[in-house]
Amino acid sequence: MKRISIASPVFNGNEKKYLNECIDTGWVSANGRFIDEFQSKFAEFCGVKYALACSNGTVTLHLALLALGIKEGDEVIMPTLTYIATANAVRYCGATPVFVDCERDTWNIDPDAIEKAITKRTKAIIPVHLYGLPCDMTKIMNISKKYNIPVIEDAAESHGAMWDGKKVGSFGAIGSFSFFGNKIITTGEGGMVVTNDKFLYDRMKLLRSQGVDPNKKYWHLEIAYNYRMTNMQAAVGLGQLEKIDWHLSQRMRIAKLYQKHLEKIKDYIEVQTIRETSTHSYWMYTIMLKDNVSKSRDEIMRLMEEHNIEMRPVFYPMNVMPPYFDADAHFPNSEKISSRGINLPTHALLTEEDIIFIVNCLEESILK
Ligand SMILES: *Cc1c(COP(=O)(O)O)cnc(C)c1O
Repeated sequence: MKRISIASPVFNGNEKKYLNECIDTGWVSANGRFIDEFQSKFAEFCGVKYALACSNGTVTLHLALLALGIKEGDEVIMPTLTYIATANAVRYCGATPVFVDCERDTWNIDPDAIEKAITKRTKAIIPVHLYGLPCDMTKIMNISKKYNIPVIEDAAESHGAMWDGKKVGSFGAIGSFSFFGNKIITTGEGGMVVTNDKFLYDRMKLLRSQGVDPNKKYWHLEIAYNYRMTNMQAAVGLGQLEKIDWHLSQRMRIAKLYQKHLEKIKDYIEVQTIRETSTHSYWMYTIMLKDNVSKSRDEIMRLMEEHNIEMRPVFYPMNVMPPYFDADAHFPNSEKISSRGINLPTHALLTEEDIIFIVNCLEESILK
């Protein structure tokens, strides 16, 4: 039986050609034309002035927080329903992640919950565009302005997604992206920070490269990091980015096929509500089992595994896992979505036959 995997990278552009150029010319490390081009084209794609390629989408969050001066004693508001990197980056700075619940319909951070969680110590807000669906950036940026607290967008899952006609990553002070192997475009491991702010750009550039003085080689101004991307990764990234419209259109194709075929089990599932102002980039097409499904989410996933279909559970809320365990915290929406949510296979190699097979197996698993 054929295995249907949850994600699969596709390299059908100039990736191999560019990668060979790195090896043939010897430009394999953290300098080279592909880094410069990948950065400038990615900035252009996001509609911002500056972009910096980094080694992954966790260190990009760390750099963003450091550039904003986040330190011990500070609080950073974020959704509890996210990937653990968002919270860990805050801890790397010695600061405290403050978790809030998500909206019941979009599954994204609830702007009202953000406002309620603000204290004198709040120094940043990190909305996460979950699975490719933009957060309500109008409300979030209004809160940011009202309280003068900067926003870092965790756009690791949402390359190309738009809110009100504008790309995510371009709303906050800094936007952070990931190019891990299962993301919308990939460099194997990799990440990018984007900003319109020259000061933040210079600060992140310095911190990315061991604090080296931009005007004096081999002279280091402070203790910093090696968070650089290699020219080889950027070569793959540029090849991917040149075809990003194709990658996004494939995800949209898969989403439309799921919408069409899931219609027959619509009484048993929910999906993220997409606001009129949102364009979803569908990193992962995700469903949530309604209460009328008597089987547990894990049981449904086990039955799907018997058909050789790979699925993954929606993120566990941060506050239930060992590093951030908090027995007193209670986030009903996140807990509900987390315990009943399933990411379905979402990648460009899937055919309509695959989607029909997946939906038929889902129907059987739910009903039998
Ligand atoms: C993938 C991801 C990241 C970054 O992950 P890396 O594997 O370090 O590139 C950060 N935040 C979220 C929400 C993610 O999904």
